[in-house]
Amino acid sequence: MVYPVSLRLRDRRVLVVGGGAVASRRVDDLLAEGALVEVVAPEPSERVVALAAEGRLVLHRRPFAEDDLLCPTPAWFVLTATGTVDAAVATACERERVWCLRADDADASPVHRPSVARGAPGSPAEGITVAVSGDRDPRRAVAVRDAVLAGLDSGTLPVRRRRPAAEPGATHAEPGSSLPEHGSSLPEPVAGRVWLVGAGPGDAGLISVRGRALLASADVVVADRLGTEEHLALLPEDVEVVDVGKHPGRHGSIQDTIHELLVSHARAGRRVVRLKGGDPFVLGRGGEEVAYCAARGVPVEVVPGITSATSVPAAVGIPVTHRGLSTSFVVASGHDGPAGLGPLLHATGSTLVLLMAVGRLAEIADALVAAGRPPATPVAVVEQGWTPRQRVTHTSLSDLAERAREVGVTNPAVVVVGDVAAVPLDR
Ligand code: SAH
Repeated sequence: MVYPVSLRLRDRRVLVVGGGAVASRRVDDLLAEGALVEVVAPEPSERVVALAAEGRLVLHRRPFAEDDLLCPTPAWFVLTATGTVDAAVATACERERVWCLRADDADASPVHRPSVARGAPGSPAEGITVAVSGDRDPRRAVAVRDAVLAGLDSGTLPVRRRRPAAEPGATHAEPGSSLPEHGSSLPEPVAGRVWLVGAGPGDAGLISVRGRALLASADVVVADRLGTEEHLALLPEDVEVVDVGKHPGRHGSIQDTIHELLVSHARAGRRVVRLKGGDPFVLGRGGEEVAYCAARGVPVEVVPGITSATSVPAAVGIPVTHRGLSTSFVVASGHDGPAGLGPLLHATGSTLVLLMAVGRLAEIADALVAAGRPPATPVAVVEQGWTPRQRVTHTSLSDLAERAREVGVTNPAVVVVGDVAAVPLDR
């Protein structure tokens, strides 16, 4: 049994006895913690010699002497990995009441080092240290440690910070400036940040692992309504959710509001997830949101999502490319009618995938026929893909407008034009 505590070794004298492979590895860990490392070893490794030459540690090329524990100042912590004199070093440490970690004999060592992993910078688990002790079974401890870390990274463990990472205002960085420096005794502040996360097309299972993890660690979620409902329902109650669901035809000022929300929450030190339907960079104005944050010095990242352009057709068995039928597809917004399609109208060999086209179906179908697509070209309209309300309507270019009117097609819907639109009918 051990009594677990954690040491803050920054600016504290730590003595490493031995200069072999084990000692060298530990030296790197100790330097990363900011310890003042001194190495005593008659034959130090190249790594240790190089670190000494860089002035990052003090090296004594000689065997251990008891005075090393106390001079020039008493060591806080000793690590011995000589393979020969570890017992003697440990005995001397015991006498002087200095904590000693023996690498040669874990059972005899008064200090036990658990298996340790840290959440990667920028990941949801940033700032978390996982330390697992395995009762003389280090590989078991490593397995448990890694499972915990995987849970943190995938958002299946409750990783969200309960305290703000930084004081409000601490991240008021202008473009190009760095974050304010803090005293060495303070924990490293984590700046507010924005992640544009693609939620996928509607089913909560169709988000990336990384996206899910970020959602689980968010302080604030700024969400479009389309494709995000299920995710919002899973969030803990104390997460602030801002619903900025847009409706076709009401853009403009809503986008400005979104920009301001992202920046102000991030500047208050919060982790902000901007949850967007499908993929953030496919007809989602994600690029503008990234540019707005970046121009104001707010760190921003994109986590891609599964776009409705390919996944909604897939939901009803339509592949956007298919051997023998189509080797390319183009995705376009139908929002502005035929004018918005430009040269794509004439790309008659490609599958055409239209988003936001429900209001302009008649004009677009006419323009496509006028540009050379046969009137009998198969068309599929898939509404509410990946939701319980999913519906597909199969028709042709010439019948599209009338058929859509008959069945009452509404937003959101993906329209697929091309031979692949008939694929599931052939099966
Ligand atoms: N960034 C999104 C697209 C945003 S534009 C993406 O990559 O999917 C919004 C349009 O996407 C809707 O008008 C509709 O055409 C389409 N869409 C999004 N989700 C959909 C769904 N579940 N079913 C059908 N169409 C969908």
